[in-house]
Amino acid sequence: MSTGDHEPRRHDRRASDREHNRRRDDTPRYLDPGDTPWSLWWRVIKARYQRIAARATRHVMQRPLRIGISARIYHPEPGATGLRSKNLQYLEESIAQWVMSRDVLVFMVPTVNTEGLLHPSNIRLRDYAKHLDGLVLQGGADVSPTSYAEAPTRPEWSGDRARDMYELELLHEFVEAGKPVLGICRGCQLINVAFGGTLYQDIATDVPEAHEHVSDLYDRHRHEVTFPEDSSLARMFRGQERGLVNSIHHQAVKTLGKDMQVEALSWPDKMIEAIRYRKAPFVMGLQWHPEFHRAGGVELLDCTAILDNFLRVARETRF
Ligand code: MN
Repeated sequence: MSTGDHEPRRHDRRASDREHNRRRDDTPRYLDPGDTPWSLWWRVIKARYQRIAARATRHVMQRPLRIGISARIYHPEPGATGLRSKNLQYLEESIAQWVMSRDVLVFMVPTVNTEGLLHPSNIRLRDYAKHLDGLVLQGGADVSPTSYAEAPTRPEWSGDRARDMYELELLHEFVEAGKPVLGICRGCQLINVAFGGTLYQDIATDVPEAHEHVSDLYDRHRHEVTFPEDSSLARMFRGQERGLVNSIHHQAVKTLGKDMQVEALSWPDKMIEAIRYRKAPFVMGLQWHPEFHRAGGVELLDCTAILDNFLRVARETRF
């Protein structure tokens, strides 16, 4: 009986040894001999996390930049009918196309009317600054002298105070959000005024020795600019002593706003043609219209480097 009891037990042990050996052979050879189920699980979770993070990063890298462009404002003409009797807000085609040429999305930012009687809204310009990655201030009507505490010396130089108010707030919100701003022509003057600077109301009157900065040639009127040694434009256009730009303005920066730096001067009459706010990653104003340069001819300054700088800061300050 005892041997009978003994025999099957020995047999069992041999069977379980075989089973054990077989299992051991089943374990994939690439596994670390010291691996435990816990260390394996940890690595599985880590790999899953890395995959999700990589997908998120890819999404962030690929999401196109969203650039806001301030609206030009057409005020209704007295006695007009149809569209001309309405408030129009619009953008000039080439500014949108110039910005879009770097594969970014462009949105025109309309004026907001939180106190409006007809269509009150809780959307403010701050919301646009929050959801867009950068701002371009379009050219257009004169800045009103009242915006820098002066009276217009002639009625036709009274500018567009309504647009000033709208764009000053828009600029403030983007600067506050730490996002980049590029001002074109009027936009350059507005940036200077926003930081406490002043303007010549009319270059020909106020600075008679200056060259012509506006003429009947419109966007075909041009002059050269130089870049001061310590400016970021000098670094951008290294090796280029002067650049040819168009000139379609009768106002210009007179006294610089606080923490503003001159980035370009007209040659040889040394009017201020570009400025930069030193306390932000990118807030720059150009007195010329870079968006007309491609169509104007190859001799005009290629400003793609400025646009790319603006867009790189937009990408970096997006979060
Ligand atoms: Mn000029």
